[in-house]
Amino acid sequence: MDSARALSDARPTPFWLEDPGRPQALPALVGDTTCDLLVVGGGYSGLWTALIAKERDPSLDVVLVEGHEVGWAASGRNGGFCAASLTHGFGNGLQRWPGELAELERQGAANLQAIEDTLKRYAIDAEWERTGEIDVATEPHQLEELHEIAEAVAEHGLDLTFLDADALRAEVDSPTFLGGLWDKEGVAMVHPAKLAWGLKQACLGQGVRIFEHTRATALAEHGSGMAVRTTYGRVFARRVALGTNVFPSLVKRVRPYVVPVYDYALMTEPLSAAQLASIGWSGRQGLGDSANKFHYFRLSADNRILWGGYDAVYEFGGKVRHEYDQRPETFRTLSGNFFRCFPQLEGIGFTHAWGGAIDTCTRFSAFFDTAYGGRVAYAAGYTGLGVGATRYGAEVMLDLLAGARTERTALEMVRSKPLPFPPEPVRWAGIEMTKWSLDRADRNGGRRNLWLRTLDRLGLGFDS
Ligand SMILES: Cc1cc2nc3c(=O)[nH]c(=O)nc-3n(C[C@H](O)[C@H](O)[C@H](O)COP(=O)(O)OP(=O)(O)OC[C@H]3O[C@@H](n4cnc5c(N)ncnc54)[C@H](O)[C@@H]3O)c2cc1C
Repeated sequence: MDSARALSDARPTPFWLEDPGRPQALPALVGDTTCDLLVVGGGYSGLWTALIAKERDPSLDVVLVEGHEVGWAASGRNGGFCAASLTHGFGNGLQRWPGELAELERQGAANLQAIEDTLKRYAIDAEWERTGEIDVATEPHQLEELHEIAEAVAEHGLDLTFLDADALRAEVDSPTFLGGLWDKEGVAMVHPAKLAWGLKQACLGQGVRIFEHTRATALAEHGSGMAVRTTYGRVFARRVALGTNVFPSLVKRVRPYVVPVYDYALMTEPLSAAQLASIGWSGRQGLGDSANKFHYFRLSADNRILWGGYDAVYEFGGKVRHEYDQRPETFRTLSGNFFRCFPQLEGIGFTHAWGGAIDTCTRFSAFFDTAYGGRVAYAAGYTGLGVGATRYGAEVMLDLLAGARTERTALEMVRSKPLPFPPEPVRWAGIEMTKWSLDRADRNGGRRNLWLRTLDRLGLGFDS
């Protein structure tokens, strides 16, 4: 089938957010209020921060303001791969923090388990499935790389299962698969929007006051705390935590560290029993291929396939705009690549096509700090792997606001920052050059050109 025809019925909206369980938005803040902790942002970062703050100290008065609706942004439209990794994968962690990687892996695994435990504790049904993730090789050089990662991982005492082509195709059958590396423990699949809505409900249950359609527009010191202007009022807070992700930070000096990179996804109609049988996938793992321009794919609870990734688009000027959420040329490319991967599913259609902004930083894993003499904390830069790591970032922000030295704040990864992006037009030119080089490397046996090797030496990069 023509790859565009499969898109003819695709609705231009995230599948996850169309759910009948989507809660009503809560009223906006009108007038002034005071609190101990103000959390700005109603994605996972903000929700986890508010919830954990209450769990650490139930007497704390916590207010959360969300500029639009809880979970509408990246947190409600992502792939739903909830990973233990705090470093955007083992390879990136090994390159940047080899000395503390074992500790980072340990803390990451504990963080993933804490998410699972929280879902149980508050009876949140977010379609959580601890099925793991398989990194798939579709080119011979990727297979070699997977072998190298398997060896490095084993040296660190971690356990990944290598699957040759037959073993992999017995799990999930595609003629393009040459082998895979299965992380059975370190990744869970989740319904992203239900996770955000469930956390919202848990926050409310613990007494967090949530105001939606309430944008924080300015921060200023006020006595020993902060005054935060909002759409229709003000919040006077002792401490402030910013979980505003890719949106312009209220602390202006943070802005050059993060650029919005648009990532796109399709959702198929539910597979029939015969269609599902044609590809197997009874283990329901998340999958990702190992190219620089990679796809990620997984099953939903009702056996649709989410198929996303590949194009990572940076628009000149680095704005976050609704019109960037739709990109027909990328949807067409994704559709064509989907049928190359699963020719057995010829004839199936896509019901949803959407995009969203990822908060990319040059080291691919989040950074954390305070401003206003320790009264304001922020965490940003999760770069496409924030579903799990945002909970960790919430703990770090609360540690920093408390001025506490913990196992988290002791880490070099937490204490250091990435290099900022240069201003435009150098930023755009640099990102385009990097994307072009990554695409060429994918087509050229993985060989990295001089530009990429230079960036590697400087510890700089571009990813989604
Ligand atoms: C298409 C796509 C696929 C992805 N797939 C995955 C995946 O499979 N696995 C994974 O780990 N990660 C994935 N990610 C990344 C992941 O979704 C994010 O890292 C994570 O959701 C970030 O959560 P957050 O709370 O920091 O940000 P967000 O969910 O963006 O929330 C930030 C919130 O802050 C609000 N806000 C901003 N400024 C203000 C202000 N001034 N006042 C009030 N409110 C404000 C916004 O309205 C928004 O609701 C994906 C992202 C996208 C876009």
